[in-house]
Amino acid sequence: MNYSNADLHCHSVISDGTLTPEVLAKRAKSNGVDLWSLTDHDEVGGQDRAIKAAQAVGLNYLTGTEVSVSFAGKTVHIVGLGFDHNQSSIVSGLRATREGRELRARDMSSQLEKVGIGGAYEGALKYVGNPDLISRTHFARFLVDSGVCSDTSEVFRKYLTDGKPGFVEHKWAALSDAVHWITQASGIAVIAHPARYGFTANEEYALITEFMAHGGTAIEVVTGSHTDAEAARYAEVAREFKLLASRGSDFHSPNESRLDLGTLTALPSDLTPVWTMLSERVH
Ligand code: AMP
Ligand code: MN
Ligand code: MN
Ligand code: MN
Repeated sequence: MNYSNADLHCHSVISDGTLTPEVLAKRAKSNGVDLWSLTDHDEVGGQDRAIKAAQAVGLNYLTGTEVSVSFAGKTVHIVGLGFDHNQSSIVSGLRATREGRELRARDMSSQLEKVGIGGAYEGALKYVGNPDLISRTHFARFLVDSGVCSDTSEVFRKYLTDGKPGFVEHKWAALSDAVHWITQASGIAVIAHPARYGFTANEEYALITEFMAHGGTAIEVVTGSHTDAEAARYAEVAREFKLLASRGSDFHSPNESRLDLGTLTALPSDLTPVWTMLSERVH
């Protein structure tokens, strides 16, 4: 099956998005999406709702998640698509990946306290839809709504990225584990938004080759996090390494996201889309 408007990356209130799976399914459908995936961070708790909601509006659906991984001193995101979301190793692996978030959030809050921003943990919690998944995005929303910054990208720039006062080093999943959880559950592992990591050429080569050695087979080419030039660059990477290509908006919120669901440009036609290998996994 060929899909002309697949959107295989977005977030709901089960992680750091602001809309429910049901509202996202309706929005995807009305924006013309013909194959959708909800890829909440380190979570599959929204998958049953997303499958049902997609069915209710007549939308093809692939299960999804976005796993936080530590690689070469940075955080890398690996999207999983089309896996069995009840398989025990991915369920327990993601649970373990989520577990450190609570302590990390408390540490972030104490660091922010030192630069004069009090009550950030409690403040961020008000924006959290899933108590197991407190993220930097929730802190960012609190800092914007309390007037410390004017938008979330300013919060990340000034407070929440490496070297800034509210940033806390964190050890996420291993690359090998993330890829194995996904592939052992019959899914496909995808390197998310590769342009975002700021890796050197050597580090990027190591990421791609190690990812492939563990069984990873796809990379995001067209995403809300890439410029057109970056999409062209990673299309070339997909050709060079013979990786399947994926496409997804990374939509989080109508107020914060640069791109809405279903508004991406097409994948270059010579690439093999990731969904060609997932036709039996479509709900
Ligand atoms: P966490 O998993 O808690 O580290 O939070 C990561 C999330 O923060 C990402 O998935 C994005 O939603 C958001 N994020 C990261 N960097 C930025 C940025 N520069 N501007 C806005 N949101 C960002
Ligand atoms: Mn996010
Ligand atoms: Mn990501
Ligand atoms: Mn994402």
